[in-house]
Amino acid sequence: MHTATEFRLEARPRLPEALERLDALANDLFYSWDHGVRSLFARIDLRLWQKVEHNPKLFLRRVAQARLDQASEDRAFLAEYRRVLSAYDAYLESEPGTEVLEALNPEDSLVAYFCAEFGFHESFPIYSGGLGILAGDHCKAASDLGLPFVAVGLLYQQGYFIQTIDAQGHQIARYQCHSSDELPITPVEVDDKALTVSVPFPGREVHARVWLARVGHISLYLLDTNTAENTDEDRELTLQLYGGDSATRISQEMLLGIGGTRVLAALGVQPTVWHINEGHAAFQILERCRMAMADGLSFGAALESVAGCTLFTTHTPVPAGHDIFPRDLVEHFLTPYLEHSGLEFDAVFGLGSKNGEHSFNMTSLGLRGSRFHNGVSRIHGGVAARMEGDIWPQIPAAENPLGYITNGVHVPTFLAPEWASLFDIQAPTWKSELRNPEFWQFIDKIPDYHYWSVHKALKQQMAEFIVRRLKRQHKRNGTGHSVTERMARKLVSPEKDALVIGFARRFATYKRATLIFSDLARLERLLTSPDQPVVLVFAGKAHPQDKPGQQLIKVIHDLSMQPNLMGHIILLEDYDQAMARRLLSGVDVWLNTPEYPKEASGTSGEKAAVNGALNLSVLDGWWGEGYDETNGWAITPRDIELDVEFRNREEARDLLDLLEQEVIPLYYNRASQGYSQGWVTRSKASMKTITPRFNAQRMVMDYVRNYYQPATRQGARLRVNNAALAQELAEWKARVQEAWSGVSIHVDGCVSDRCHWDESVELKVSVALNGLAPDDVRVECLVEPECTGTHTGPGPDAFVLEASGEKDGKTLFKTRVQPPYPGLQTLRLRIYPHHKALTHPLEMGAMLWA
Ligand SMILES: *Cc1c(COP(=O)(O)O)cnc(C)c1O
Repeated sequence: MHTATEFRLEARPRLPEALERLDALANDLFYSWDHGVRSLFARIDLRLWQKVEHNPKLFLRRVAQARLDQASEDRAFLAEYRRVLSAYDAYLESEPGTEVLEALNPEDSLVAYFCAEFGFHESFPIYSGGLGILAGDHCKAASDLGLPFVAVGLLYQQGYFIQTIDAQGHQIARYQCHSSDELPITPVEVDDKALTVSVPFPGREVHARVWLARVGHISLYLLDTNTAENTDEDRELTLQLYGGDSATRISQEMLLGIGGTRVLAALGVQPTVWHINEGHAAFQILERCRMAMADGLSFGAALESVAGCTLFTTHTPVPAGHDIFPRDLVEHFLTPYLEHSGLEFDAVFGLGSKNGEHSFNMTSLGLRGSRFHNGVSRIHGGVAARMEGDIWPQIPAAENPLGYITNGVHVPTFLAPEWASLFDIQAPTWKSELRNPEFWQFIDKIPDYHYWSVHKALKQQMAEFIVRRLKRQHKRNGTGHSVTERMARKLVSPEKDALVIGFARRFATYKRATLIFSDLARLERLLTSPDQPVVLVFAGKAHPQDKPGQQLIKVIHDLSMQPNLMGHIILLEDYDQAMARRLLSGVDVWLNTPEYPKEASGTSGEKAAVNGALNLSVLDGWWGEGYDETNGWAITPRDIELDVEFRNREEARDLLDLLEQEVIPLYYNRASQGYSQGWVTRSKASMKTITPRFNAQRMVMDYVRNYYQPATRQGARLRVNNAALAQELAEWKARVQEAWSGVSIHVDGCVSDRCHWDESVELKVSVALNGLAPDDVRVECLVEPECTGTHTGPGPDAFVLEASGEKDGKTLFKTRVQPPYPGLQTLRLRIYPHHKALTHPLEMGAMLWA
């Protein structure tokens, strides 16, 4: 039989004049955090809005003309439309606060933020997980605060994959193409011509188109190689996020780093601070060095002036999470680019080599090409400082320049509208008080019954959402209606109001999604108690090449299908931001069981807490700082020196103990009012302590004060006068590096071992400077009280020794020290290079102890 070819035709409506600005609303990611904008679209046609998966641009292409015409004559709708628009206009017109203006004046500062993924909203699928969502939240908070800020990324036509889980529990990855006119982007034009940039690649130039995504006050520029100037193969370079092989990966990273920098240059945008968010974007350092060298600087001076205004943020404490390329791959890809750049391959390779290996590590490049560096929680900052310690080989990890800023979440994006409405009534200025812990005490004033009713309504919405998803999933898999019914039974039974525990994130093995199943018999007993049922909801994607991650999905799938557990374990497919918002605002408990210390920060627990869910997590990442004994539950990780199996077993037992002895009893301790007062108290403690500390505005202001402002200053200092200071610094560093191996320090004579507390002792060292001047170094004595194990002060006291004469060809340094502590104290003497232009006193990584 002959089947006819089908053609698809989309009959697009024309926007009525009265609703003209819907188009502007659809083209500003403001909609991703403003519930008012999203409700406007939903109000016009709810079914279509759901069908297009909350995508405003697609919605405006497909909606029926009649619906639009109707809305344009509906008074109530028009009133709402005007209200939303005036809120939008007010947002765009709002000025930055004095705190921002004083730290980063828009007249002369600008932050450029580079990242490989951005997660704003489910309608814009160019993210895979935590890193992208964090980058999106960073941009949103920068917009809220009115920061001078521009962001750069890649536009992936297919983005990250869409996940289905089949009847056997196998993950199936499907890619879907998104045309540019269904995404919230517009082409960037310069002089009425579409802007393109190009980057030299082996044997050809690769061209990229440039798109603009509006995020409230700020612009995000995205590069995309799908243009007619490229070969078919090159057109696909930016097809998928984290797809392809290492050649694809290095190509994408050249486009992001080198191409992205060229985009800003082509637009005449001149950042004063460059923030590289994770190693993928670190090639921008090369392009900026190349530009500085084209202006006449030496490589060394170019590197100093570039690094001095650059911040590098590392996100993964797992070495396998870093991009590492073999030397010959890097040579193959970079050689054409480097050819006319003035940059030498060996020098470039040196920036990315780690421990002298024959491979190129993007994290090392990021760290050597920046003078400001941070991890993303207190624990992770410490781990990263140790892991990357080879960049500063002679510096103790605790003192090296790698600091931390703990991640936070964008509250307007992740807070359920029901809570926002309640806050609007109880504390109308809450949106501008996000960084004020005192203010958030207002949560306690909300009557318990009212507080609980909001949670319950959200939990109900989540249950409906889960049931819809389960039906779709199981219908497709042919599992049959009765299975879906049984799956959902515990969740939707209103009289029981079962305790719901959520676990959703990428299925990477270190996240230990199946830890809770370590003692299955015991878990089954806890979950299936007739009076106190518990439901576990799981979701998440595993990277298509991560087979062990996919195995975890299968294990959970199989358990969820076991008759004895059915309804108590639910596995949902295709975790994305829309599902995250639903689960995080609906569950009672959010579970996280990473293998310590591999959770750099984690942010989903913060989103849960903002919505009143209680965290039950390993004390790792942000929870190591967030947990205060009243606001959730903690599993204390075992010593990492111990056997992995043993640690897993012990921590799993803690988890089940907590569930059995604390979480379940507290939840079900319901009095006549139908909810547990103790639970509400704990939930309120969580919401009010965590919201003001772990939100993105607090995070971005920390970046402003600790990094953006100092980097702007340092950059300006180094650049002034044809980068005279950068030049001087580079030459000085070269000289010090030459001489350092011949430098030595010895105590001259002996230090007395006793004195009265009001006396001082003389300290004298002799130093072989090997040609350096006394001013090139700093000699200091560190004094610490004896019992350092319990000493939690700001670190040891440092006393500087002054040069005073020569002896036997060596330079003497001395000082007198009055003991800063009573009783026993330890004194240690050391020397390190010193120059007034250094960003961090220990950035050279050189230090010797007497
Ligand atoms: C917040 C979020 C993440 C990150 O969650 P973690 O707990 O940090 O792993 C991942 N995916 C989505 C969709 C999110 O919203």
